[in-house]
Parts: sequence; C-alpha cells; structure tokens
Amino acid sequence: MLKFQEAAKCPNGSIAISAYPKTLIARRYVLQEKLGSGSFGTVYLVSDKKAKQGEELKVLKEISIGDLNPNETVQANLEAQLLSKLDHPAIVKFHASFVEQDSFCIIMEYCEGRDLDCKIQEYKEAGKTFPESQIIEWFIQLLLGVDYMHERMILHRDLKSKNIFLKNNLLKIGDFGVSRLLMGSCDVATTLTGTPHYMSPEALTHQGYNTKSDIWSLACILYEMCCMNHAFTGSNFLSIVLKIVEGDTPSLPKGYPRELSAIMERMLNKSPSLRPSAKEILKIPYIDEQLQHLMCRYSEITLEDRNLNCQKEAAQIINAMQKKIHLQTLRELSQVQKMTPRERMRLRKLQAADEKTRKLKKLAEEKYEENNKRMQELRSRNSEQQLTVDVLHEFDDLTSENLPESQPFPSLDLDPLESSIEDTITDLGDHEIPEDPLVAEEYYADAFDSCSEDSEEEQEEIVFSAPREEIKNERPRPASRTFQQDSDIEALVGCLENVLGCTSLGKLLQIPKCSATF
Ligand code: ADP
Ligand code: MG
Repeated sequence: MLKFQEAAKCPNGSIAISAYPKTLIARRYVLQEKLGSGSFGTVYLVSDKKAKQGEELKVLKEISIGDLNPNETVQANLEAQLLSKLDHPAIVKFHASFVEQDSFCIIMEYCEGRDLDCKIQEYKEAGKTFPESQIIEWFIQLLLGVDYMHERMILHRDLKSKNIFLKNNLLKIGDFGVSRLLMGSCDVATTLTGTPHYMSPEALTHQGYNTKSDIWSLACILYEMCCMNHAFTGSNFLSIVLKIVEGDTPSLPKGYPRELSAIMERMLNKSPSLRPSAKEILKIPYIDEQLQHLMCRYSEITLEDRNLNCQKEAAQIINAMQKKIHLQTLRELSQVQKMTPRERMRLRKLQAADEKTRKLKKLAEEKYEENNKRMQELRSRNSEQQLTVDVLHEFDDLTSENLPESQPFPSLDLDPLESSIEDTITDLGDHEIPEDPLVAEEYYADAFDSCSEDSEEEQEEIVFSAPREEIKNERPRPASRTFQQDSDIEALVGCLENVLGCTSLGKLLQIPKCSATF
C-alpha cells in the first residue's frame, strides 16, 4: 500500500491537510485530503505540481491491485491510456494512470460540487425538489455524455447517482470505462458487491451487459432526480432484484411532462433491444425541443461572458495606455484616444515629412544666400552686365536661348548646393524625392501606404504598450482557460450543435423558439 494509506485509515475521512506526509506521488501529486472510499478503492484530493495555475486540484483514485495478474494490470494500463484520450464536458476527465507499489492509481478531474447522490440527500433533507428545467438540463447533459461514450463502444457498467458529479452545476459522469478496467473478466461478481438499485434485469440475470444496460441505469437516475427516491426499492437486496426483474415499470408523477415519463418508461423496458439508445432519445421531438432551448440559454451565457471579458480587456488596455502616456496633457490624450491607430500613424508620418521639408528649406535658403553673395562679386567684376538670377526658382530660364548669344553666362557653382541637398536627402531617408510635384505627391502617398498594418501595430506597441511585466500581470487569461465552466458550456454548445445538426451559433439564435423560457 502507498505511504498515504495511513491517512485513509483515519476516521471520517476529513483529515487536516497538514496531517498528510508531503510526499510527491509519481513525482507530481501532493495529497490534500481524503474524499471518500467506494467499491473500488479510496479517493483523494491531490494537488498537481506540474499543472497550469488554477488547474492544480485533481482526484487520485487508489485501487489495490489485489488479484489482478500482471497481464490484467498491463491491460488495465492500456485501457486507461485510451480513456485519457476521451474528452467531453459531461464526462469526468481521466488524466492519467500509473502503478505505485501494489496500487493502481487513476488521476481524474476534480468536481468540487460532490456527487449527485449527496445533492439529492441534501435536497431531500431540506424538503426540496429540483426544478423541472434543472432536471431536463441535467438529463440532457447525461444523455450527451452517454452517447459520446457509447459511440466509442465504451460502457459504464456502474451508472448511479454516486458516480455522477457536479462541477459548476453541470453534471459529469465519473468512472466511465473504469469498471471494465478494474473488473477484468469477473464483472458480474464485482457488480454484485455494489448497489442493485440501478442494475438492469439482464445484468442481474447474467444475460450480458450492453449499451442498453447503461440506458436502464440512466432512466433510474432520471427517476431519482424527479422523485428523490430510487425507481426500484425494497427492504433487502433480493426484493429490489425481484422488482427490477419482474415488477411493473414505474412512471413519473403527474406534475412532470408526459413525454418525459414516456421516454423514461421506454428506457426501462425489460427487453434491452426495445430500449432506445442515447442517440435515439436525443432525436425524440420533445428532447429535441429542450435541446434547442438549452442551446439558446448556453449561447446567451457564453455571449454574456465574452462581452464581459471584452469589457475587462478594454479597461485593462486603456489603463496600460494611460500609464504609458501620462506625461501628455489630458487634452492631447483625449485627442489621441479618439484617433484610430492608422490616423495616429499618419500623424507621425506627416510630422516627419514636415521636419524633412523644414530642413530642406533651411538648406536651400543658406545656399541661396551663398550664391547671391557670389553673384554680387561677379557683378562688381563685370559691372556693365545687369544680371538677376533666381537660382532656386528659375533654373529652367538659365538656358542659352534666354541669354544674349554673344555673352556667355558666367558659370555658377551649383555643385555644392546639389550635393548638400542630396546629402540631406540621404540623411533623411533612402528614397529620392521626385522633382515633378505630381510624382512627388504619389511618392508621399506611397510612402504612407506601404506601411503595413503590422508595422503600424509594432509602432503602436512601442508607443502605447505597457512594459512587458505589466502586460504579463494585467492581460486576462482567455476565458476558456480561466473559467472551467465557460469552457464546459462552450463544449456543450458544440455537442448540442452536433446533435441538432446545426453548424452556426448565429443560425440558432435566429430560431424564434429561443425566446421561450426554459
Ligand atoms: P463509489 O464506489 O461509490 O463510486 P468512488 O470510489 O468512486 O465511490 O468515490 C469515493 C468518494 O470520492 C465519493 O464520495 C465521491 O463523491 C468522491 N469522488 C470520486 N471521484 C470524485 C471526483 N472526480 N471529484 C470529486 N469527488 C470525487
Ligand atoms: Mg465512483
């Protein structure tokens, strides 16, 4: 037995966490508390040291290998690996399995809402019953889970309210496939050690267990959710068995929809082949209608959650931006905030172009002054000649046609001007600005437009984003990972879409039935 077996021997199971030795099981699990014992072993709450933040709590089920021979242990491990690949919101996730000393350990998803049996007892003691809408919602979740497993040819064999768990008020079926894993070939013998309340006539009379036997058990759970009592009761094991095998088929009390009772009665047909499969039940018009209501409700929940998340994210982004540009005046801030990222990018580009123009203008003015001086000198040297030349604006006029033929125009030294303008342009950027004003306009337009959204975003990040550490702390984790319930509901919406044969959420939201109260 494992070291932590000592803890299991303590009475009532609610042992303080500190009482457990902080031994790492399988190099990653630390025991937190004992949750209880069942037909197959002891169940503990553990903390997974290698799990993502917020996903550490898991359940460890420890089963004594006992009579299992090595072959059966290997087989159990192989089947466990298969189970770990299954993923459905209505099935308790099977994470891993391993053999530790003489125990077979299974690591499963933790359902904080305890099992359905506890919930029923709690309601019963308080004199309460579940609302009809709640029962139908849960029944549909169970049907979806059972259908998923039956499609994969996996039987539960031990469906009962003690094996149905609550997590954020969603039902999850636990131990699916685990019975087979642990019972090996002697399933009937092991089954008889458990409760007979949910067992089908064929299982009790050793006529084989199949998917329809799970359907029988599911009907017993539906009855229990409605009536807060077992469908087949008796003072002892044998009297219960007799009721199941030979007794009348129970029906739901009058307050419940006739359609629901009829479905339950079909599921409790003594002949397995006459019972509907989970898939067939999901297609019954009454259930189909309920599926659509449920789909609308879940869609609304997920949309509301998404809106909430968007609002939170927006508030955090604004907060980070404000921190980064706190030196600007409030007026500037509000103006900048009103702009789109593209507008802000254009503004910066225009400012850069203005700066470039200002530098060129200054340089041209300097050269103009220089040349003016030189011309003055030439004039004084050649006083008879009256010459006015606007070196900047009338280069075109400085052609031989406009000058007296006989008098060659004294050459102006323009090279220094051109080369320094070129230098300036090179300094300011690699591109040459075209001389033609129209082409130049295009050049500027191109220069702005060639800036991709990506590069704009990059620049936005440099200017407005918060420091890395801030982002790490402030960025909310995606809803699907932060809130297990959200991801489960989203997954359920996916399942419902599949069952309803509907591909888009939008399509369903347009169904008028959506406005009906569920
Ligand atoms: P049983 O044989 O009655 O099904 P189990 O061994 O499956 O008993 O479970 C023992 C106890 O551990 C029960 O009280 C059950 O509610 C609890 N438990 C089992 N699995 C989980 C789980 N995944 N999350 C929370 N509690 C669990
Ligand atoms: Mg169980």
